[in-house]
Amino acid sequence: MKYHIKTFGCQMNISDSERIASFLESQKIKPTEEITKADLVIFNTCGIRQMAEDRVYGQIHNIRKQESMINDQQKKKTIILTGCLANRKDVQRRLKNKVDLFCEIKDFQKEFRNWIIGNYLEIGNWKLEIPAQQKNTPCSDYLSINPKYNNSHSAFVPVMTGCNNFCSYCVVPYARGREVSRPSKEIIMEIKNLLKNGCKEIILLGQNVNSYQHMPSPQPSPDYGRGGNSNPSPPLGEMSRTRDREGDVVNFPKLLQLIEKIPGHFWISFMSSHPKDFSSELIETIAKSKKICEHIHLPLQAGDDKILLAMNRKYTAKKYLNLVAKIKSAFAKYKPNKLYSITTDIIVGFPGETKKQFLESACVMKKVGYDLVYFGQFSPRPGTVAFKMKDNVSKIEKKKREFFLNEILKETALGNNQKYLGKILEVLIDKKEGANYFGRTHSLKNVKIISTQKNLVGKFVKVKITKANIWNLEASLYIKP
Ligand code: SF4
Repeated sequence: MKYHIKTFGCQMNISDSERIASFLESQKIKPTEEITKADLVIFNTCGIRQMAEDRVYGQIHNIRKQESMINDQQKKKTIILTGCLANRKDVQRRLKNKVDLFCEIKDFQKEFRNWIIGNYLEIGNWKLEIPAQQKNTPCSDYLSINPKYNNSHSAFVPVMTGCNNFCSYCVVPYARGREVSRPSKEIIMEIKNLLKNGCKEIILLGQNVNSYQHMPSPQPSPDYGRGGNSNPSPPLGEMSRTRDREGDVVNFPKLLQLIEKIPGHFWISFMSSHPKDFSSELIETIAKSKKICEHIHLPLQAGDDKILLAMNRKYTAKKYLNLVAKIKSAFAKYKPNKLYSITTDIIVGFPGETKKQFLESACVMKKVGYDLVYFGQFSPRPGTVAFKMKDNVSKIEKKKREFFLNEILKETALGNNQKYLGKILEVLIDKKEGANYFGRTHSLKNVKIISTQKNLVGKFVKVKITKANIWNLEASLYIKP
């Protein structure tokens, strides 16, 4: 019995797939790189854009089409669909004859076992062997599964999942449910194990990572937080908190401080943050830290207040800019000699976005001077509030707007990169391609290093920056004179 996982979308999905792999292997199901050799294919899906969704439909359709040409039922693969599309009724209707099991990621273990039990404990020639006493025991939280890490020097560690924010364009609160934080002790234990095994970089993950500590309210109203006019934040009484030990609430800055205290030389980074949860305590924790990367990803989404309200983002452009100013002044105060980077996400062509409103995004971009922007052309997602809005900005116009903003980005990115010229910096090497190594600085800038030295992947090295390009830096290994 062999499995193959197709992962779509963000780092959280990559991390979830690491846990799925570990669970399947604990059931004695072996991995295969070749989908044609797999008996079990798991589609870990993404619903952020239509394009990602269409790729899933296309690949599942191809698998079933090839099987029908062979016309051998023994060779029929078991297909499981999980991730963001798993509980969408329209997706289930569309794929009901092609997919064997739809299950939410948090229920993967339970659903998989129940499905196998319901299907006589076997797929092809393989049988699930569950000790009798385990059949009725509840499956533990999927986040507590020990993952099968894809990378030995850089690991994703999810600290929370789900989201309570209901941005009007986003499927995450529907697909993943409300926020759930992992106990800090469990996170620390996972990180200590990783470091013991040589890991050099810990990337903390969460859909809304900096609201770590919030637990889902027991029964949120289905309309809670949706749309521009709704209540912008949950009533305090609805929040529960993760406690480190009795009396100690562990919020995100506290979690970072606990991780920082773990001995050893390693880096800490995190994604994705919501500006509304970017507290002064968090800014100070980052700016004072030696281990937390000097990189802030702060999704803007739009620069116009009316569009931000329609997106239900809970801040104005002015508040966002004030926050960036606070971050910059904290770096100037605590790390005056360190270079840092600020990146963001921007959606172009949100329903009703006029040219004038779009130019507000350009205006914020110029004021912040981003290092990188992940642009998204608005794509209506079924089930979201924005899906019901009129998608009235044409595709061509969305493309033009993205192009326009990208030109601004090229200027600010190059300007920021030029500040690195001549600097001697520590870089973590990620990979080698041909004669070049590729790594990142502590501000998470991509660096290409030309070196004939062997075995540098996964190591920290000192480099001297020799060239600044728009999207990366170039360097040579630094040898102390
Ligand atoms: S904060 Fe908004 S964009 Fe981010 S996951 Fe939550 S709903 Fe989606």
